[in-house]
Amino acid sequence: MSAPLPRPRRNVMLRVDRRPVGTFAAMLAGLLGLVLFGLWLEETARRAQVAQVREALHQSSLSLGQHAADMIEVAELTLAMARATLARQPDMSGMQALLDDQMGDMAGHARHIERIVFLDRLGNGTASLAPGSEQTRLGADLAYFRHHRENGSTDPYLGAPTASFVTGEPVIPVSIRVEDAQQNFAGVLAVEMPPEVFSQLFSRLASKPGGMGAVLRNDGTPIALASSTPLPADYRMPWSEIIAPLALSAPGTVTDTVWPNDERRRHMAAAHFDHPAITVIAAVDDEELLWTWLADACSRLIIGGLLIGMGLILTLRWWHRVTLHHESLRLLKQTKEEFRLLADASADMIEKLSLQGVREYVSPASQHILGLAPDELVGTSILDHLQPEERAQARQVLENLRRRAATERVVVRYLRPDGRESWLETSISRLHDSHGDGTGMVAITRDVTAHKQHADQLDALAHMDGLTGLANRRSFDLRLEMLASAAVATGKTFALLMIDVDRFKLYNDSYGHAAGDACLKRIASAISQSLRKTDFAARYGGEEFAVMIEGIDQTSARLVAEKIRKRVAGLRIPHDRNHPWGYATISIGVAEWETEMGKDTGSPGIIEAADQALYAAKEQRNRVMILSGNGKATDHGAARRA
Ligand code: GH3
Ligand code: MG
Ligand code: MG
Repeated sequence: MSAPLPRPRRNVMLRVDRRPVGTFAAMLAGLLGLVLFGLWLEETARRAQVAQVREALHQSSLSLGQHAADMIEVAELTLAMARATLARQPDMSGMQALLDDQMGDMAGHARHIERIVFLDRLGNGTASLAPGSEQTRLGADLAYFRHHRENGSTDPYLGAPTASFVTGEPVIPVSIRVEDAQQNFAGVLAVEMPPEVFSQLFSRLASKPGGMGAVLRNDGTPIALASSTPLPADYRMPWSEIIAPLALSAPGTVTDTVWPNDERRRHMAAAHFDHPAITVIAAVDDEELLWTWLADACSRLIIGGLLIGMGLILTLRWWHRVTLHHESLRLLKQTKEEFRLLADASADMIEKLSLQGVREYVSPASQHILGLAPDELVGTSILDHLQPEERAQARQVLENLRRRAATERVVVRYLRPDGRESWLETSISRLHDSHGDGTGMVAITRDVTAHKQHADQLDALAHMDGLTGLANRRSFDLRLEMLASAAVATGKTFALLMIDVDRFKLYNDSYGHAAGDACLKRIASAISQSLRKTDFAARYGGEEFAVMIEGIDQTSARLVAEKIRKRVAGLRIPHDRNHPWGYATISIGVAEWETEMGKDTGSPGIIEAADQALYAAKEQRNRVMILSGNGKATDHGAARRA
């Protein structure tokens, strides 16, 4: 119980640290840094991808342009050779055979040339590789025919896509003017190329997201167009706004512009050729590019986002817990400070104890209650300063509290260091946590010495006769009952003396009631002085007294009675009318406890016996009488005194 324990030097105060705001901010900043770093990495990757795509666009525009130019040049060459052959012809007859036999053969070597067509000066046409097609067709309305008829140039001409002269299918025509010997317009030779030969050039480009490739004449007329996304039939290329300026700018330039026709941003490279006069462009849609990048970066962004999200959640959770913990510590501190304030201001001594009863906190009131300063008490056991008897009582209280009694109250006698004795009332309550487990105890102690003394005084007064200071009748009854019970239980005997003042009525009559009171007091005092501490004297009523003496027989009791009688007579209190003595005397009846006296349920028989003896004594007064075995009173030969 009072085993040595680490002893705190003073009452302990709780410190509440500030919340680690800096750490929290650093963690958030770290997470933000990670996010920014990740975004920077992705942006770098995207820029690299864009740069790569733009370089590829430049290369594509050059190589595809060269291809397209080569195909057109081959067509032009073919036409030039055909024109030379025609020039050797005396007339235009047998054109079908010529085209079929010779030029068809020539055209057959270039796979992009579908057929060669000859239109005479009136527009009547003949075509190679077109079995069954006669010279009945009229090509006078064809744009390229009208161009050559109205334009004197003998240079090859790249026509806008048109319907085939032979099949009506869309074709791209390359044509040349044919003149007779007088250099008059003699007709037109044309090559029909299927548009697919250009589209196929761009097939790889068009397979890329947002990819687009186009061949345009240098006047802006589109020749062929391929796109990864379907375009409307009347789609207009932004020639003058974007394509022409780029085509004429420094080679290798790649633009990044919003096309006004569809409001889409595109990266575009253009290759410009003078012979044939075409411009080839390669473009990709910026948004498509972004989506491609996004699709690629998606998994990285999701995983990164999840990790950052988890980091953020963990950080916020940690911060939440820190905040809660801090708040509970703050409340605890506040509660403790309030407790301290109450305890410090309280006149009662308040102690916080461990479950073993060791003081952990003691309020300043200890100084006037125990005579010891709080610092002298903290770390000591509450049993330490108690007397052995009280210590056992307090130990029992602690034991009860440990067995889950909520509150115990105990009053103990305490010997202060200055030697004074005081009475302390302590109320100890058990403290427990939310699980009901004991965490300690709180004891509130007040000095009840004054109360106790007062209560003792009241108690004494309640059992004392006010006039004589002897025990009162009530007290006598209790004592008699106690002795009677003990006698019944153990056989331990006792004697009862009933004392009555002789002729006291006359005393009062002669000297007055006040003098009567004074006389009663002196007689009571004489009775007390004749007794031992263990004997019991009471005022039975009026001018009658009773004495109880434990553990003696009739004979010894008679001796005590004699002693009393003599002492009272020895006072010589004048009482003229008390003949023959002339001073106050008393008569005493003595009875000893006998077994059968306990059988009475009402007033014990011993009173009757003593009364009977007193009655006998009153026959002569100033005398002691004993009730003998035959029920008769006797003085056993006691000498009557003068
Ligand atoms: P006896 O010798 O036969 O006992 O005569 P006695 O006069 O003493 O007997 P009695 O019982 O007739 O009278 C008792 C008287 O005691 C009556 C009463 O006035 C007086 N007395 C009783 N109590 C008190 C008291 O408290 N003070 C005073 N002064 N007188 C008391
Ligand atoms: Mg009387
Ligand atoms: Mg009397």
